[in-house]
Amino acid sequence: MRAAVATSEVTMALAPELKEILACPRCKGALEFHEAQGEIRCLACRLAYRIDDGIPVMLVEEARPLP
Ligand SMILES: [Zn+2]
Repeated sequence: MRAAVATSEVTMALAPELKEILACPRCKGALEFHEAQGEIRCLACRLAYRIDDGIPVMLVEEARPLP
């Protein structure tokens, strides 16, 4: 019998070295990390890239436009 999964807080924290190398695929500019929301935003492009299971999806086609 497997024990029930303990209450776990899902954290979308990204490795600092990963954040350092990440850039917006469209403008190659700096990004704003919103890990709690599972999003990486580029304010210049007004796009939000999602973080899927801890993996940033850096695709312009997949990005959500910011209002
Ligand atoms: Zn950009």
